[in-house]
This record gives sequence, structure tokens and C-alpha cells, in this order.
Amino acid sequence: MITLALSKGRIFEETLPLLRAAGIEVLEDPEKSRKLILATNQSDVRVLVVRATDVPTYVQYGGADLGITGKDTLLEHVAEWGGNVSAAGLYQPLDLQIAKCRISVAVRADFDYASAVRQGSRLKVATKYVAIARDFFATKGVHVDLIKLYGSMELAPLVGMADAIVDLVSTGNTLRANHLVEVEHIMDISSRLVVNQAALKLKQAPIRNIIDAFASAIAK
Ligand code: AMP
Repeated sequence: MITLALSKGRIFEETLPLLRAAGIEVLEDPEKSRKLILATNQSDVRVLVVRATDVPTYVQYGGADLGITGKDTLLEHVAEWGGNVSAAGLYQPLDLQIAKCRISVAVRADFDYASAVRQGSRLKVATKYVAIARDFFATKGVHVDLIKLYGSMELAPLVGMADAIVDLVSTGNTLRANHLVEVEHIMDISSRLVVNQAALKLKQAPIRNIIDAFASAIAK
């Protein structure tokens, strides 16, 4: 049995064509079903529906053989292992080039970020991505107090709780709607295929088939 961990929503939708290219059809829609284990047209392949932030955990601890996760989520997950994907027992063979966006620093339109940085001010930064934010500001030599949030980061500068946020940006509409402006582009983000290293050794042929089918589907 090959088990693939996916999260609902954008990643799930954008993964379906890749699965199809590998000859795999998921038999149920996770948005309609309450089932957490979905069968596929291949009796030896199943899909687990898990929270996006839990995908690397399921793959690392062998609950799933493979998973698809954003680079943002993967970097935060492996921070505990010194930022090393392989030290976390994971193998990252492919950038699937789906769910593309960027991770950026944003501030209120009336906050002068450039002069705060120039003056060496200590910034309060609200984010779900504490490892990515810590690394970014440390490299820049900016002192920050990080405030961990789990969602709606945009609120923090509006209510005076933070000077800046670090969040995913796609169209920029969410920032604009909340009178925030992007002041730093930290990195581009896309979804990655992650594989449990032990599973890859034990089930090499079927897992390689999936990796190869995904790779040729991306190239098209
Ligand atoms: P946008 O308004 O298009 O810039 O989208 C920004 C909002 O969507 C933010 O709240 C992000 O957390 C979320 N978002 C954007 N792109 C992604 C992505 N690829 N994966 C997960 N969340 C995303």
C-alpha cells in the first residue's frame, strides 16, 4: 500500500492533475466527504486528508509514504532539525511548481519600515512563520521580537500589536484590503513532494513510479 498525505483546498485541487498523470484517480471529493482516508482507482494507493501543517509530520513519522506540502510549511517543520530536510527523515525530490506564491514582510502603509531598519529599531513582527522570519531578520541584522499567530496576521499591525507581519502573498489583495504594503520579498514559495526516506527504500519501485510520473507531468 502507498499512502499519500494531502491537505484540502488549493494543494489538493492542484495535485489532482499530477495524480492523473500517474494514473491515479481519487474516488471521493474531500470537500464533500467526511472520510479522512480516500480510496483511489488503484487498490494499493490511498490518500490521507490532513491539515496542511501536519503533512510533513505524517510523512516523517511514517503515517504516510509521501506528501505534498508548501515550502513554507516544510521549512517551518524542519527548523527543529536544524533546517535540514534529510535530518528530519525526509527526502524532497521535486518542486511541483503548484500553489505558487511568495513570503513577504508587510507593514501598515503609514509605517516607515526603511527608516526603522536604518535606525536599528527593534521590530515587533507577527507571523505564523517564526523560523523563516527569524532567519530572514537575523541575516539582515535586524533585531525582532516575534509574535506567533496562527492566522489573520494582517490584523496585528492594524491593532498596534506588531510593526510588521511575515505572511504568504499571492495577488496582494489581502494586504491591500487591510491597508498594508509589502516591503520585503523573503522568498518564492511553491509546493514540494516529500517522501519518507525509509518508505522509499522499502517500496522503491512504486514510489519511484509516482515521482517519475509527477516529474514528467510538471515538465509538460
Ligand atoms: P492574496 O490576497 O492573493 O495575496 O492571498 C493572500 C492570502 O492567501 C494570505 O492570507 C495567505 O496566507 C493566503 N495564501 C496565498 N497564497 C497561498 C498559498 N500558495 N498557500 C497557502 N495560502 C496562501
